[in-house]
Amino acid sequence: MIVVKTPAEIELMRKSALMVGEVLATVARFLRPAVTTSQLNDLAEKHIRSLGAEPSFKNLYGYPFATCISVNDAVVHGFPSDRPLQEGDIVSVDVGVLYQEFHGDSAYTFALAPVAPAILQLLKVTKESLYRGLEKAVVGNRIGDISYAVFEHTEKKYGYSVVRDLVGHGLGRRLHEDPQVPNFGKRGAGPILPDGLVLAIEPMINMGRKDVYHDKDGWTIRTRDGLPSAHFEHNVCVRRHQPDILSSFDAIEQAEKSNPYLDASYF
Ligand code: MG
Ligand code: MG
Repeated sequence: MIVVKTPAEIELMRKSALMVGEVLATVARFLRPAVTTSQLNDLAEKHIRSLGAEPSFKNLYGYPFATCISVNDAVVHGFPSDRPLQEGDIVSVDVGVLYQEFHGDSAYTFALAPVAPAILQLLKVTKESLYRGLEKAVVGNRIGDISYAVFEHTEKKYGYSVVRDLVGHGLGRRLHEDPQVPNFGKRGAGPILPDGLVLAIEPMINMGRKDVYHDKDGWTIRTRDGLPSAHFEHNVCVRRHQPDILSSFDAIEQAEKSNPYLDASYF
């Protein structure tokens, strides 16, 4: 069942979505070689709680951490661990917060310099594809228009692979609401987009093949061919003529550019 939000609810959701951006910016400032993803997770959880919010992911479906941190061939749902990060790693950080009864949910992939140019291109194209999808979040379009826009830019144009097993979603009082938002599909197919629908659009794009598997921890999803995968996620409210992007990467990108350990040259 698709639930649209009232204007007051949308403003609450904007607060939650912007909080996630601030938390991701804190992570971006702290990222460097030798830091562990457990340390990043702890930092993010402290920040979330200091804002008076709750981490959306913790205990959801039994997931034990506040964040998902997925390194290199990990696509999503990466368990924070004590493995130190290294130069050349790409690090996808996915954060959700629950604040005043509504969830925000964003993800961003960082590059620990120096990163191979081919991998930086994967990040650039994945991020671009997110905006291609967001552009389609207007009244009267269908879910398939968003899905196809992401697919066209990544798989069709660049030969990367869209992960089929994982999708974006509606967002609101629950982290995962209807409808599902696949990153592949047909233009003009799927549910029609009503005014006030809030979606989490999140391309998960593999450099190589689309096949993925579950790691031994039961959560971390990895590419079968071992090649890297990128993930960017925004929250958007469907509006007439123009989408209203509720989350923001501004603070994250500023932190990324001023952190000498991160490569932000791919913008
Ligand atoms: Mg997310
Ligand atoms: Mg999500």
